[in-house]
Amino acid sequence: MDRRTFLKNTALTVGALAARTAAGKAASANIGRGDRIVISNPYEKVDWNTTQRHKAALHLHTLQSDGFQMVEEVVRAYHRAGYTIISITDHDWNEPNRRIVGHWGPLPAEQATPYPRDPKPDNFPANPTWPWTDYATPGPADLGLVGIKGNELSYKHHINSYYNDYGLWHGTPGDQIGHKAPYRIVDAEGREIQEDDQLTAIGMKGGLGILCHPSISDEHAWWERKSLRWYIERYRLHSSDYLIGMEITNNVPAHQAYDEGLWDQLLARFMPERPIWGFGNDDMHDLRSANQTFNMLFLGALSDTGVRKAMETGQFCIYRSTKYINYMMPSVEFSDFPDLKAIKIDQDSETISIEAVNYDEIKWISAPASLEPVEDYRTSNQPWPLGTVVHRGNTLDLRAAPGLRRYVRAEIMRKDGDHIHRIFTNPFGIVKS
Ligand SMILES: [Zn+2]
Ligand SMILES: [Zn+2]
Repeated sequence: MDRRTFLKNTALTVGALAARTAAGKAASANIGRGDRIVISNPYEKVDWNTTQRHKAALHLHTLQSDGFQMVEEVVRAYHRAGYTIISITDHDWNEPNRRIVGHWGPLPAEQATPYPRDPKPDNFPANPTWPWTDYATPGPADLGLVGIKGNELSYKHHINSYYNDYGLWHGTPGDQIGHKAPYRIVDAEGREIQEDDQLTAIGMKGGLGILCHPSISDEHAWWERKSLRWYIERYRLHSSDYLIGMEITNNVPAHQAYDEGLWDQLLARFMPERPIWGFGNDDMHDLRSANQTFNMLFLGALSDTGVRKAMETGQFCIYRSTKYINYMMPSVEFSDFPDLKAIKIDQDSETISIEAVNYDEIKWISAPASLEPVEDYRTSNQPWPLGTVVHRGNTLDLRAAPGLRRYVRAEIMRKDGDHIHRIFTNPFGIVKS
């Protein structure tokens, strides 16, 4: 949308909120010229006294594509480590047993997964690794987990696809086979399938999608970094009903400024009316050496519908440590993260407060000062100006924070020697009346 439409929509959003909710009425009664109000709070439904915290691993690979371990080992390892929400997201374009240390598969039979057994699922090998019971793994309910059907769509920009069975495979009859990366795949009319086709398919099938690891570098033959314009177009074209967010951290620490900066650039354009939730994922291929990156969902109780709703509404935080972890250990020691107790908004005093312990600093971040790239996104790992730090401390006074525009998000950080453990909130929508 253009700037005029954006501003119009923002005004409509404020008006609609004021008319619709009690909170809106309270806020609108207090709006004076120049005041700022919070118009969207992803945590507004959380009761911080009773909420349950559930760790979600939403990007995991197994031997069913290019990971190193069986589905059962992966599920059991994450379960043992305290995760209660797990999605296996094998690449749709891989056959099983692709990965061997030092070269590319197939694995010898004695190390290989024999699953799924015949008859193969529809759309094999581009099918999601689901249900787990087809892979000699207990079902989620048997383990007291929520499991999410997942697939990493890997033609072109990687897209994690949840709650549906879409997937592409270059060997499908009628398609042209691209044997050499970057792969190409065409539809029945001979037209190359694009990211938009894949995202639309996710939406049509009632699924949810997120864009993965934007910062993976161009040195991989299978990857091409995209311009800021490209991301803007995708989030404009595709509704937040199904394109819910993006990874703001994946498994390449050196690239974090790229992903976080891109997120800020997008939030500065799309908030408050079109949220883009940040997701933090290990992108685990090998249990022995994984990041400690996960999503912490705040739920009344663990349920399939509650988890999906939290993903759709941003009711979670992203946890990210620079320390690696070995999920094959019998007991896994997580980094000593800050302990987030509550996030509270007071519309009357126009403040957002974070209650936490065991942290060194809380930063509040809003729109970047510049919306132009400062370096070439294809070669630089910091091409986008990051969001502006508008305040440090546990309470943000919206009236006293210069530079606050459209959104604010918080980072809670603890230093630990050379390591750093961070919690990222999702963005709050802000408008100035
Ligand atoms: Zn990927
Ligand atoms: Zn992946």
